[in-house]
Amino acid sequence: MSDCCVAIHGLTFAWPGAQQPVLAIPQWSVNKGERVLVRGASGSGKSTLLSLIAGIHSASSGYIKVLDHDLSTLSQRQRDRLRANEIGYIFQQFNLLPYLSAQQNVELAVQFAPARRQRIAQRGQTVAEAATTLLNHLGLTDAQQQQSAQTLSVGQQQRVAAARALLGAPALIIADEPTSALDESHRNEFINLLFQECAEQGSTLLFVTHDATLATQFPQVVELSELNTAPQQGEADV
Ligand code: ADP
Ligand code: MG
Repeated sequence: MSDCCVAIHGLTFAWPGAQQPVLAIPQWSVNKGERVLVRGASGSGKSTLLSLIAGIHSASSGYIKVLDHDLSTLSQRQRDRLRANEIGYIFQQFNLLPYLSAQQNVELAVQFAPARRQRIAQRGQTVAEAATTLLNHLGLTDAQQQQSAQTLSVGQQQRVAAARALLGAPALIIADEPTSALDESHRNEFINLLFQECAEQGSTLLFVTHDATLATQFPQVVELSELNTAPQQGEADV
């Protein structure tokens, strides 16, 4: 096993029907345990890059390795399994199931992820206990953990989404602009909690944003425009 969590080489990706690739990344890697912020304007391809790393879409050419697995050599099913077991994804809109409780939303993360369930068992916990532990660390009260997701505030929903991504210690946590709906103090607090939890369970963090002011929070910052040699179609930053 190498120190590499994500390695990209000669990657290009064009959306079906598009004239130009949205992404062309000659070389990029993220090592295990790193906390990396990728900054780029709206429409510059951040979410597209994350979907490629997560194996949701496939590169047009080149390769992406996640934990030494070359995604282009895996079947869709193998990619789905790798994602379920080793990638925790925090979406911009959180994607929680509104009628389920916070706790149930978190537990769902490991339903199809045997490796994540195994890691929880190795720590001597049940899935429910591990979900509660994470939600407690992220600041949700016992009562809030039993509330349906739709009755929680945006900040609370975001913590639930983070707990869902972290449950069962996936190797890589991907965060797609999860703080855009928060004010600055809540945003910084959330990022610090995310750092703590990633460090505790040994997860690598890949976080994307359009917000340049987040750069001071992260030990490593990269501009997507410096990685990506495709003609930029992004809007002016907002
Ligand atoms: P960002 O996350 O940086 O705002 P995106 O990765 O969402 O940017 O989008 C990059 C470019 O790809 C944009 O031009 C966008 O319109 C296009 N795009 C995004 N998703 C799709 C899709 N599902 N089908 C076709 N084009 C898409
Ligand atoms: Mg996006």
